[in-house]
Amino acid sequence: MKEFDATVVNASGREVILDRTAFYPEGGGQPDDKGVLAIGGEVCGVVGLKKDGNNIIHILDREVNVGVGIVATGKIDWEYRYACMRYHTALHLIDGIMETVYKSGMITGGQIYHDRARMDIDMPSLDKGKVAEILEKTNSIAKEGHYVLIREIDRADAMAMPGLSRTEPGRKLLEKLERIRVVEIVGIDTQADGGTHVKNTKEIGTIMLNGYENKGARRKRIEIVLA
Ligand SMILES: [Zn+2]
Repeated sequence: MKEFDATVVNASGREVILDRTAFYPEGGGQPDDKGVLAIGGEVCGVVGLKKDGNNIIHILDREVNVGVGIVATGKIDWEYRYACMRYHTALHLIDGIMETVYKSGMITGGQIYHDRARMDIDMPSLDKGKVAEILEKTNSIAKEGHYVLIREIDRADAMAMPGLSRTEPGRKLLEKLERIRVVEIVGIDTQADGGTHVKNTKEIGTIMLNGYENKGARRKRIEIVLA
């Protein structure tokens, strides 16, 4: 969803809460969206978002004086968001391929930007040549065109899927949630995840290595760019 209508629930200064939103607040290594919000006869820039409990606060580029109940129209910066989606799915695909093809290696941290992404990988044997090999394999699988499916499941079902979260903090979080959102790259990778993704791995394009840093036996940092 790129555009949506919503109703103002709360507005104060530059901060607006709506009854619903398509803007992504930062999370899971993916940055918050940017875009515009038409509100009270003005078109304001949305320069950031933050979470406050269950609310998502839209931070505008200027103060607005609007009451509760008025209708606003949001439009996300699709070029920026779509780039983040491509990087996010790329990271899941790399993670899934290490798991399914190499039976070793795991992404333990990462940060997505609209023009690059970095990840920390726990794989002691991972040198630059091995990274190149993994990325080559990932690119060939991406081009096969695997669908990316998103659904929500109950906690009990999630607990019965051991690979859903591969890190300890992730598993702890799953135990606290009633419903769990699952992102599946069909045939490759299934993970609990709150981020936004492309619909098919063909949309990722070609993953290229942009940096490699050995930060310890269990922490290799790599940066990728997409073409
Ligand atoms: Zn993710």
